[in-house]
Amino acid sequence: MATVGFIGLGNMGGGMAANLAKKGHDVRAFDLSQDALDRAKAAGCLPVASAAEAVAGADYVVTMLPAGQHVRSVYENDIFAAVPASALLMDCSTIDVGSARAVAAAATAKGLAFVDAPVSGGIAAANGGTLTFMVGGSAEHFARAEPVLALMGKAVIHAGGPGSGQAAKIVNNMILGSTMVATCEAFALAQKLGLDLQTFFDISSKASGQSWSMTSYCPVPGVGPQTPADNGYEGGFASALMLKDLKLAVEAAQSVGASVPMGSSAESLYQAFANLGGAGKDFSAIIKMLDGSFKA
Ligand code: NAD
Repeated sequence: MATVGFIGLGNMGGGMAANLAKKGHDVRAFDLSQDALDRAKAAGCLPVASAAEAVAGADYVVTMLPAGQHVRSVYENDIFAAVPASALLMDCSTIDVGSARAVAAAATAKGLAFVDAPVSGGIAAANGGTLTFMVGGSAEHFARAEPVLALMGKAVIHAGGPGSGQAAKIVNNMILGSTMVATCEAFALAQKLGLDLQTFFDISSKASGQSWSMTSYCPVPGVGPQTPADNGYEGGFASALMLKDLKLAVEAAQSVGASVPMGSSAESLYQAFANLGGAGKDFSAIIKMLDGSFKA
């Protein structure tokens, strides 16, 4: 049994920490929210009063925080000074590549082992222990991280050196955001052209227009598998989080001089959808903005 310091027990971290506790690990859990601490306690974790207390004596540290500034601040102000030199640090948040590389460099300078390990899969996958982890760091650190991450996921993949996990995550989500917009506008057009949408799905899902956004996450209620569209676009992956990931992808592209016109268009469209009041809806709900039927 290992001691794990877990910081950030929100929608994702709460389920992940619970899975580590369920597998018999001693999980010392910290969050700024008392509700999150209470839920972690009910799930078998030991709530503690600070991030420093969570990581003192830890074999492993997992962080699952909102964005780059939170990750930088928690590592620089709380974790680095309190964690044992032998611990392995794993940040599973989705953050900008620059912050991931800065935290990795600061850890290396202090002789600490660190990987960035963002996840694919939403709250259900976090609760069910079926996340996919994309890991950035040295081969040696990946080998140490893999068995622990595997307790919370179905796949753990080494993406490359420091920051590569974040790079893979945001590039993947740039494809997802772009294909979802393309799928939504295609269904909206198909409808206006008088096509039956189930028939169009049957054709396109077996033809070259097929994508994961269409066949696994169809934005049209009653068509394809059960998706958030069948639940009033509630649950699933919030448009606000897709917008966050698209902003990270476009920022990363700018930092290396890459041209991402589709990703930039998807970012603008998700920004417009958020401005209309769609931020809390599943990201497939953007079809309602594109077909003109969205009501906040
Ligand atoms: P969340 O807002 O539900 O949880 C974040 C938690 O961090 C909150 O409980 C908050 O109180 C806590 N926190 C913030 N600052 C803190 C600090 N200084 N010390 C301790 N706790 C602090 O967010 P989430 O949905 O769990 O997402 C977490 C990360 O996972 C994000 O980077 C997100 O982009 C990524 N992600 C989310 C999903 C999803 O479907 N929700 C999917 C994949 C990746």
